[in-house]
Amino acid sequence: MRTNFTPSQLCDPHLKEAERNLRTCVHCGICTATCPTYVLTGDERDGPRGRIAMMQQMLEDGGAPSAQAVHHIDRCLSCLGCRTACPSGVDYARLVDAARLHIHDRHRRPLAERLLRWLIANVLPRPKLVRAGLWLAPLGRLLPGRLGVMARIGTGARARPGDEIWPTRTRPIMRVALIRGCVQAALAPQTDAAIARVLARRGFEAMALEGCCGALVHHMGRDAQAKAFARRLIEAFERSGAEMAMIGASGCSAHLKDMTQLFAHEPAWQARAQAFVSKTRDLLELVDATGEVSPRVAVAWQAPCSLQNGLKLADKGRQLLAACGFEVREPVESHLCCGSAGTYAILEPDLAKRLRERKRAHLAALGADIVASANIGCQQHLSGPGLPPVVHLAELVDWADGGAMPRAMR
Ligand code: SF4
Ligand code: SF4
Repeated sequence: MRTNFTPSQLCDPHLKEAERNLRTCVHCGICTATCPTYVLTGDERDGPRGRIAMMQQMLEDGGAPSAQAVHHIDRCLSCLGCRTACPSGVDYARLVDAARLHIHDRHRRPLAERLLRWLIANVLPRPKLVRAGLWLAPLGRLLPGRLGVMARIGTGARARPGDEIWPTRTRPIMRVALIRGCVQAALAPQTDAAIARVLARRGFEAMALEGCCGALVHHMGRDAQAKAFARRLIEAFERSGAEMAMIGASGCSAHLKDMTQLFAHEPAWQARAQAFVSKTRDLLELVDATGEVSPRVAVAWQAPCSLQNGLKLADKGRQLLAACGFEVREPVESHLCCGSAGTYAILEPDLAKRLRERKRAHLAALGADIVASANIGCQQHLSGPGLPPVVHLAELVDWADGGAMPRAMR
């Protein structure tokens, strides 16, 4: 596709990268059918091809974006199903990153929306505040609209004795900095405990590294805040002495592995980020089955978008569960996002709810004993009456190893 950026615009690395991707797009529309929002609305502007056209116009114009462009780009889940489908190699992630940054810097949202976004960006990345906020969850029923959705996050979630106890090893083959993250640390500490046990049985020792990866704010276009989180995490890892870094939520894991691009303007930090990324592994890259559950348990496997389109480890997740003795069932439309998508369920509750109900119906139809995911956002978003408990895959591997049955099943 032809572009019309000025030479001075192309001095900006973000725009330069966006321009390269815009030129790669041939507007074939092959990606359209894989886009969850297009599947729901049938509106070209809610699909990748339409969004790419709007992003091009917005970035080339360089000024305040139109309300229409903001509306349709806000409705993008960043699931990256379109990137996986694209035969031309368009990196939609870089395009939408540049668009969100542009919107954040040049568009003034209504006051209520600014306040909500400020609240999300300053509460959710902090586990202590999320834990404190759990007491507000019952009040969420009374609060209207998006504030109510936010207050209801973590309804029913409580840390239990044993959640924070991790095994230690005298001579581990490697020490792994297990990054606690934000929302998962507050709502599902049992996930990291299960990961630590799974690692320990394979000779690794997990050491806790406190900190948020910054994915939540990155997807809101808050570049400076995302970089601040990334810098703190990289510094903490460098100080820790660990040989490897890992995080339990697949959305965060995908963000960690993509962190170098945050520092396109800063060569020194780019090198440190690159070194950090080279030592980052997802659980699925380290772990194979060592035991089998008995009797056989049917698991509905819903691989998060971040695992499918970011990390490309969805098949590994299915294979690992099968090797652990589970009967793995996959829902129809497994490629479509469940609507959680970081802060999307709060910011775009109507579309998120429609995607949730669609996904839950497909999962319920499988008649499984349990639903497995790899991302706390999806676990929270999908959980509820009418569906078996939704747990992190690590809890199932821990069970197959000979550990306890996941708490949600007991
Ligand atoms: S992003 Fe790829 S699949 Fe989608 S319209 Fe452009 S070239 Fe075609
Ligand atoms: S990232 Fe997902 S929601 Fe956004 S355009 Fe691509 S497929 Fe559609």
